[in-house]
Amino acid sequence: MDHFSLVDGQLFAEKVPLSRIADEVGTPVYVYSRATLERHADVFRDGLAGVERKHLAFAVKSNPNLAVLKVLAGRGYGADVVSAGEMDRALAAGIAAGDIVFSGVGKTEAEMRHALAQGVGQFNIESEEEGRMLAEVANAMGLTASASLRINPDVDAGTHAKISTGKADNKFGVGLHVGPGIYQRLSELPGIALRGVAVHIGSQLLSLDPLEAAFAKIGELVAHLRGAGHAITHVDLGGGLGVPYQADNDPPSPADYGALVARVTKGWDAVIQFEPGRVIVGNAGVLLTRVIRVKPGIHDPFVVVDAAMNDLARPALYDAWHDFEAVAPDGTRMSANIVGPICESSDTFAMGRDIDTVAAGDLAIFRTAGAYGATMASSYNSRGIVAEVLVDGDRFAVVANRISPAEIMAAEQVPDWL
Ligand SMILES: *Cc1c(COP(=O)(O)O)cnc(C)c1O
Repeated sequence: MDHFSLVDGQLFAEKVPLSRIADEVGTPVYVYSRATLERHADVFRDGLAGVERKHLAFAVKSNPNLAVLKVLAGRGYGADVVSAGEMDRALAAGIAAGDIVFSGVGKTEAEMRHALAQGVGQFNIESEEEGRMLAEVANAMGLTASASLRINPDVDAGTHAKISTGKADNKFGVGLHVGPGIYQRLSELPGIALRGVAVHIGSQLLSLDPLEAAFAKIGELVAHLRGAGHAITHVDLGGGLGVPYQADNDPPSPADYGALVARVTKGWDAVIQFEPGRVIVGNAGVLLTRVIRVKPGIHDPFVVVDAAMNDLARPALYDAWHDFEAVAPDGTRMSANIVGPICESSDTFAMGRDIDTVAAGDLAIFRTAGAYGATMASSYNSRGIVAEVLVDGDRFAVVANRISPAEIMAAEQVPDWL
């Protein structure tokens, strides 16, 4: 459930007409709803009521906007970060360092030092090599790094190949068969204190079965590690829960997910950690755009909007679907191709889509754009970086300025020998 709905024939974000945001901030612009963010944060937590000891870390990469992070910090969420930059954002939003989990296959020495100096809560180690580097870095600082070992359970998440992370040939984590040996060797090093294992098999999961298969393997591994004398106090189950991008998507509810986790982790006697991203922010954001013109096509007309693949990359990257709706629909429908202005055919949001009738100058939204939207924006075609707005009841604020092409150009220099 979200708070983007029609009131007297006009799309609103909570109590703010989207047309007002377009008038005052311009388009394209991401619009987030605070009430939706908070609702999703609470629904996810409530779904996990059956899990006694838990820690929730919002996956910052899905939406790193400071205001969004602040809202989620206010709901008791920590952060899952994958770079020093994300870590600094989480800290700036008021998330305690101890509530931050640092994931990712390519943490550099400098990032490790930075995170340790800030007092990061946990590193999720993705290889033996990384664990050895972390131990050295921490030891040299006179510190001990808390860490968990990320396991690649070789489970097919049944999602798009580019967002699957738990198959043996994906770059993430270490295989189940080598996990215990690596765990043993790393646990003998000074500077690192292993406290558990982590798993994250992919994103936009629409079935609980792969998660159950992965968690069951993790449960066996935890028992095995304990049998070898290791104290396992934390198990990180990652994120990955899908959201409905279109009507026939039927993702598991947070309640169903929570029931599964409660059942599978019963008796694990550890803090169970979660790293939800998409399920918290996906439906809490829309991309508001204006139709530039409608150009005739062979079969269907091309609706050319002022948002493009540099603002919302998911359709170009993952063939992703985003519902498209007019801000002031007149009740009629048309079949159209929806495209942006970028000079690439991959700048296509939809082909042959049945949509509200729109004409040049009309406003429209792409729904479910709160996750992996603005965060992937680029300035490709020298279009500038898209703005972001947060709505709260009847008020709204710009929470990320539009960065103009001129500002981007100002960061470049031509050497004087040219
Ligand atoms: C991306 C990511 C997440 C979040 O995934 P969602 O599908 O957005 O919930 C969680 N954990 C790790 C390690 C990730 O890389």
